[in-house]
Amino acid sequence: MIRTHQAGALRRDDVGATVVLTGWVATRRDHGGVTFLDLRDASGVVQVVSRDLPDVHALRNEWCIKVTGEVGARKEGNENPDLSTGHIEVVATAVEVLSESETPPFPIHGSEPIDSGVDETTRWRYRYLDLRRTGPASALRTRAKIVSVIRRVMERHEFVDVETPYLTRSTPEGARDFLVPVRLQPGHWYALPQSPQLFKQLLMVAGLERYYQIARCFRDEDFRADRTPEFTQLDIEMSFLDEEDVFALTEELFAELWRDVLGVELPTPFPRITYWESMRRYGSDKPDLRFELELVDLTEHMQGTEFRVFQAEHVGAVVVPGGAGYTRKELDGWQEWARSRGAKGIAWLLVPDPATGDGGSELRGSITKLEAERLTSLPAAAGAAPGDAILFAAGPRRTTLELLGALRNAVARQRGLVREEEWRFLWVVDAPMFEPVSSDNPAVAEGAVAGWTAVHHPFTAPTEAYAATFHDDPEHALARAYDVVGNGMELGGGSIRIHQREMQQRVFDVIGLTRDEAQSKFGFLLEAFNYGPPPHGGIAFGLDRLAATLAGTDAIREVMAFPKASSGGDPLTGAPTPVTERQRKEAGIDVRPEL
Ligand code: ASP
Repeated sequence: MIRTHQAGALRRDDVGATVVLTGWVATRRDHGGVTFLDLRDASGVVQVVSRDLPDVHALRNEWCIKVTGEVGARKEGNENPDLSTGHIEVVATAVEVLSESETPPFPIHGSEPIDSGVDETTRWRYRYLDLRRTGPASALRTRAKIVSVIRRVMERHEFVDVETPYLTRSTPEGARDFLVPVRLQPGHWYALPQSPQLFKQLLMVAGLERYYQIARCFRDEDFRADRTPEFTQLDIEMSFLDEEDVFALTEELFAELWRDVLGVELPTPFPRITYWESMRRYGSDKPDLRFELELVDLTEHMQGTEFRVFQAEHVGAVVVPGGAGYTRKELDGWQEWARSRGAKGIAWLLVPDPATGDGGSELRGSITKLEAERLTSLPAAAGAAPGDAILFAAGPRRTTLELLGALRNAVARQRGLVREEEWRFLWVVDAPMFEPVSSDNPAVAEGAVAGWTAVHHPFTAPTEAYAATFHDDPEHALARAYDVVGNGMELGGGSIRIHQREMQQRVFDVIGLTRDEAQSKFGFLLEAFNYGPPPHGGIAFGLDRLAATLAGTDAIREVMAFPKASSGGDPLTGAPTPVTERQRKEAGIDVRPEL
């Protein structure tokens, strides 16, 4: 190395040592004859003092330099307890400029938090400068640490790390594929994998028994704040297992990650809840358990009502503690909130509290035309206390529960009910196997089911209760699928797979995949299943989400080295770009193969 020490590693013990340091000028302060520099390298920052070196005055921020000098103790009163090197300084005897820098597009001091207010596109455009800052750089270091813990745990359990192809065929994860043209076979295209799903199942047929991979996945979906077209999964598959094995492994892995990265002890095992219980109680399949506010079901209470709003398949509510104090404006705000989500609105009722005067002296709300008896018994039926507000939604069961679930989250945030310091994990199991496909065909009546699609993917096994009958009752059939949820985020999901041909065929029948279509899409997997496939199953975790969570940020882009902007493009390289006529020709983009 052309240096003797790391700048951020110098301590009192080093006083008297002659050192050679390298790094960047973080700040420069001229005090007459004396110049102070903060020198930054990957390990941190140290103060460099120059009393008489003439070259030092020319230095500018972000120039890359080499400093030779002697470590000295700082004078009492000049110490900086916030800095790990704050007790010492390096008295420079020589400074060499290794390279000069233009003025950076945003200030880089070193100690910035992850998100310091510089706009994202500029940060990603100059990511190599952004990463000179402590916050952004430490997010990447956290990610690396997570990967190392993952490998340790997987190796402990004798999982084999296998790379599966990136140039391949379509994977059935329900998103659009990214396609890659093939020059040597004009008109033919590879698909980038949406997940290694089919390959990991083949590896089970191959007798590997325990596979894992930290795999890049590609899904061509609409852009959203928490989505990027390429992302990373920790992908796992095991043979001769049941759900308990997946749960135990996941819990061990998470406990170790939280312990090693955050010093937090996670209680295990994680509680389990079925999908429908989760929908009923929280209006979500990824409930945040850091607050209560369970949904109230008032469907029965409203049975037979003349009041139009509540003549619905499902009537439910969120009880807002202390909500009787809501102003008219706040209540209107909830209406707007509901409408912005595409719902008709939210009905409300304030329960007066004689002690505080909140909510007036009698029940007030948008539903006071309800039958008198139903109205007066409503607070008790909803479990609301004096001083509470009840916010109602009514309509088709699933969409109403989902609206109430979103309302539950929004109310909890608005009222400060989220216990931010807690980590609450759970398993959501027994999800529906199929969901209806909405039809664009005007001949199909609105609300009628045009067909079914697999909720997880079509290789997911039914629960025992539905094994023989799911094809007759796709609406109610449940799958041996599981999601692990932490603080309201889906961190991973997987399933026990089908390994019997006959059962697999029935799934294809339900989703309307003919034998020929199934053959042409996944014939290679079905063929492999002719050769004694073992019972198997697995799970995949979103590594970016996991890393972001452990790095203490909401944004998955913060834990990606070179993230795409929310518009999908890469501000740094300018990708995607148009291709030239010649590239089109060479890649065979416009060739139509004979099918
Ligand atoms: N392939 C699934 C996914 O990407 C995970 C799994 O079923 O193991 O969501």
